[in-house]
Amino acid sequence: MEANTPAQFLPGIGPRRAALLQKLGIETVWDLLWHLPRAFSDRSHLTPLARLVPGLDQTAVGEVVDTGAPRTRRRMGLFEAALQDESGVALAVWFHAPYLAEQMRRGARVLVSGPVRMHGGMRQFMHPEYEILPPGAPPSGLAGGRIVPVYPLTGGLTQKMLRTWIRLALDEAGAQLEDPLPEESRERLKLPGFAWALERAHFPRALPESARARDRLAFDEFLFLQLAFGLVRGNRSQLRTARPLRAAGGLLEQRLRAALPFRLTQGQEDVLREIRLDLGRDRPMNRLLQGDVGSGKTVVAALACLIAVESGEQAVYLAPTEILALQQQALLRDWFSPLGIRTAGLLGRTKAKERRETLAGLVSGEIQVVVGTHALLEDPVEFRRLGLIVVDEQHRFGVLQRARLREKGPWPHCLVMSATPIPRTLSLTLHGDLDVSVLREMPAGRLPPRTRLVPESKRDDLLRWVGERLREGERAFFVYPLVEESEQLDLRDATRMAETLGRHPGLAGIQIGLLHGRMKGEEKERAIAAFREGATPCLVTTTVVEVGVDIPKATIMVVEHPERFGLSQLHQLRGRVGRGGGVSHVFLLQPPDGGPGLRRLRVLEKEHDGFRVAEEDLRLRGPGDLLGTAQHGLPELKAADLVRDPGILLAAREEAARVLGADPGLTHPSRASLRREVLKRHGARMPLLDIG
Ligand code: ADP
Ligand code: MG
Repeated sequence: MEANTPAQFLPGIGPRRAALLQKLGIETVWDLLWHLPRAFSDRSHLTPLARLVPGLDQTAVGEVVDTGAPRTRRRMGLFEAALQDESGVALAVWFHAPYLAEQMRRGARVLVSGPVRMHGGMRQFMHPEYEILPPGAPPSGLAGGRIVPVYPLTGGLTQKMLRTWIRLALDEAGAQLEDPLPEESRERLKLPGFAWALERAHFPRALPESARARDRLAFDEFLFLQLAFGLVRGNRSQLRTARPLRAAGGLLEQRLRAALPFRLTQGQEDVLREIRLDLGRDRPMNRLLQGDVGSGKTVVAALACLIAVESGEQAVYLAPTEILALQQQALLRDWFSPLGIRTAGLLGRTKAKERRETLAGLVSGEIQVVVGTHALLEDPVEFRRLGLIVVDEQHRFGVLQRARLREKGPWPHCLVMSATPIPRTLSLTLHGDLDVSVLREMPAGRLPPRTRLVPESKRDDLLRWVGERLREGERAFFVYPLVEESEQLDLRDATRMAETLGRHPGLAGIQIGLLHGRMKGEEKERAIAAFREGATPCLVTTTVVEVGVDIPKATIMVVEHPERFGLSQLHQLRGRVGRGGGVSHVFLLQPPDGGPGLRRLRVLEKEHDGFRVAEEDLRLRGPGDLLGTAQHGLPELKAADLVRDPGILLAAREEAARVLGADPGLTHPSRASLRREVLKRHGARMPLLDIG
């Protein structure tokens, strides 16, 4: 048996159970070894049979002195065994277990663990877990007699099955696995050996051992991930060259700065300096700009585009949605055309003639900046000199799509801007191959929206209050989790509310617009324009407005069923209001059942820093939910936990930097095991990462 042996070939598994194991993500013996316990149950204490206390879960060992299947309850397949030890006798009862008659013969030594009750004057174990102990053998940990692992399960599998199979996998395959960490690192970092860690992560002798074991496994997970990122980066900078963009005089930049209605914040200046340094190198920039909603990423990106243009190159600005592409195109045009720079837009629905003209302009170099959605990449697009790609509001732009752009010519520089601030631990795990700039500071004078939870009983008052504000010229978003009525969920939905809200006395006479993701491009645009201009001062919508939409007059947001959203998502949503300065309000309709959902939402009342909101979100819902269900590219972590183990992550990162500093390609023979392990764990992902 080896690590890559299919689990199906283990004794007792077979095709049917293999299919169940697959549901747990287990295909091979290696996967079994990495199916770590979700908890432990301390059953190391054995209670003498005569001293069992009814009402508690306990563990005991006894000799089978009698067995039987009580006739009265035969239909339940009841099986009973009388157990005896030096202290006395107790019964054990199992349901639907006639097969036990085969295994539990008189004279066998049996360990039982489970709930005890009194029945007919006898102490009785009710359907306990059990292990038949060979003569003289100590308990193996499959049922008790020591600390036993408790595994994530799926229907049709039992704890005992998993314990048995994993025990077998450890004995047969686990012990042969080489320790990928060189002894020198292990000693310096005071880490236990790999085989020990794997064994004790499943079957610890004492609970602290399991923690130490798991920490070692977590360290490995982080280390090999960081090494993979490091190798990819190294590879990239060795293999790829880019044209350095060193805008000569920066005249255009000075003119744009002078035309802006604001001065850049220190944070924006710092980030721009980092970008400028990157652009000036003959290696392609791969930088992620993380910034809170409204921190002013767009202007930084625009200045980066300007550096490209002033260096005689073209820039692409990619947005995730058409709404956003149009908005940014208009913005860049306003900023750039007075400087004599030609911009164009390219969307999926751009008419054939206009598309042809734009494409021609890109080939000739006449168009210097093009804004678009991913559709920009769908057909062949040729550039005269593409110097910079900006990807806005995306956790991580689809690597393949980026690759398509890059086929078009020499290697351009790349700036990715994230939609949501994410905690550093998550960022390192997700974007470890990128350089990261963080924009934490908000433009001066910006007031965060006042966020309040509103009970359902106050909904009428709220709507009346909103109505008054709208009549005075303000704008309000009403956000719903669903586009249309759902049969499964009893929730207010956008489509229906766009009709019914207007009938509320508080909102009488107010024009209400509707905007959601299933509308056609032109319909969406019309809805946004009508809202922007005030024809429909109230816009009923969904999370389509979550990303980037910039309407300075919008001052009010009402979110119904906010418990259906993540904290970061709500933070992103509320970033849509109060962009024009002045006080703005966000109202979250309280979930009717209160409880944990309510407590979670209260974070938003107090916390205005998107990075801290994201940390809470990570803590409460985990990384998958924080990033959204879309393919987020988060590598799977079995032992490591981004919330619990930031210290281990940083230690692993430091070690990766140390190792790669000494040996950037991991080519030295003493690091062969490290290299093998990186490829084993991340080899499949690395070609993808390499494209970035
Ligand atoms: P985001 O980082 O969420 O993409 P934007 O780039 O859309 O934020 O900027 C949000 C708003 O802040 C815009 O209206 C923009 O004009 C404004 N803004 C950007 N930088 C500054 C600044 N330094 N001072 C004042 N306002 C700014
Ligand atoms: Mg933005």
